[in-house]
Amino acid sequence: MARQETHGLRRWRRARDASTEKRQYASEPLALNLIPLELQLLVISHLDVANTARLRQVCRFYRQLVTPDFVAKQFIRDGAQDPELQWFCTACLARPSRARLMLDEARAACPWRSLCFRCFRARGGLRRHEREHGRTVLLVPGGPQASVVAVPCRFCGWLLAPGGPAPASAPERPAHRPCRVKIRLVSWAWILLGVLQLVLGFMGAVAAWSNYEEMREIYVPGTLNFALMWVSLIVVGFQKVHIRRWRITIKPWLIPFTLESAMTIIWLPPLIANARDLAPMIETSMDTFPVFSLAVFAANFGFRLFNSIGYALLFFDFDPRDVYLPDLSAAQKLLRAGCTFMIYWAFIP
Ligand SMILES: [Zn+2]
Ligand SMILES: [Zn+2]
Repeated sequence: MARQETHGLRRWRRARDASTEKRQYASEPLALNLIPLELQLLVISHLDVANTARLRQVCRFYRQLVTPDFVAKQFIRDGAQDPELQWFCTACLARPSRARLMLDEARAACPWRSLCFRCFRARGGLRRHEREHGRTVLLVPGGPQASVVAVPCRFCGWLLAPGGPAPASAPERPAHRPCRVKIRLVSWAWILLGVLQLVLGFMGAVAAWSNYEEMREIYVPGTLNFALMWVSLIVVGFQKVHIRRWRITIKPWLIPFTLESAMTIIWLPPLIANARDLAPMIETSMDTFPVFSLAVFAANFGFRLFNSIGYALLFFDFDPRDVYLPDLSAAQKLLRAGCTFMIYWAFIP
């Protein structure tokens, strides 16, 4: 009986001590907050990299105090860095998995060059990076490897790390498994739209030649756009080759954009002339052909306008994968989705 009491007492004491300890531990950051800043800095200077980064999450004050610059000053001395430092992102101080931590090519001069893929994507530099450094991304090497290469998916920009679902060697057109079906769907839609566009181009030219021989504002643009359609087709085919193999000094997408804009503008006079004469023509001949030709001209105009917008977005370096960026608001996502749609309407880069 007495032994049991002692046991119970001991248990109670242990629980009380633990709870006091827990309370002390919980109020620790607060206590650190209360002492003068110089002393706080002295305490912080004894923390390791992981705990310094963790301190950032305690409150807004430490978030402002513990910046990447502060961490760099703490752990890089005379050009030599604490080896732990390389596992933390230089931009957000997060510690992602090794497969998501890349070497920042822009920080070649600094020994601490780790950038999490999330921050890299948020900067929107994927297309620029691909142009300057190719389709691969250098990961922060761990262990004995000198360098580890990963490839961003060409459809969503997600990093395909070695050992993941993608082959370790960098393929020409990398895509990760969930995106392959989407790419196939988008490609088929693009081909179908391309065929439809060709058919509409033919129909527009035939409509202009068969019924509007005496109307120069329809006949001439119709003929001109028929010729330009073939030029555009050749340029699109050439663009695909040019982008992959050759480095030509003409800015990519400038030629197709100029061509498509010209065709959009050239389709305007037939559209206006046809619409203007629609009512009198129907009244006199009871023929539905003017309505049909107006629809064909309007469809041609719409197609070429959408193409122009898509090529303009490509020209201004919009990355269709930006719709997959993390932390987008609903409005931003919608806007990017619209831009991505316009790009894929014109071309699949
Ligand atoms: Zn980061
Ligand atoms: Zn993907």
